[in-house]
Amino acid sequence: MAIDWYPIINGKCNRCGDCIDSCHYSLLKYENGQIILNNYEKCEKNCNKCQKICSVNAIHYYNGTSESLLNSFSGVCSCH
Ligand code: SF4
Ligand code: SF4
Repeated sequence: MAIDWYPIINGKCNRCGDCIDSCHYSLLKYENGQIILNNYEKCEKNCNKCQKICSVNAIHYYNGTSESLLNSFSGVCSCH
């Protein structure tokens, strides 16, 4: 089965950790100075709990389309 739903965390992330606690499957974790997603295939389609908890709008979702990938990264730079 194709993986067509998972969060993408952009450069606005301030590593507050709120999204880690929000995921009922414990898929998000802090590693090497950033938030990463474990087990993409376990992410629940159309769940947006981690996005809703994020106060800086750092989470968007890949939904199987190339547009969703582009939207996730547009206008965001993580270099500063
Ligand atoms: S809740 Fe948002 S700002 Fe906080 S760690 Fe998660 S993605 Fe980053
Ligand atoms: S979308 Fe839902 S299941 Fe997927 S990482 Fe976020 S909180 Fe967890």
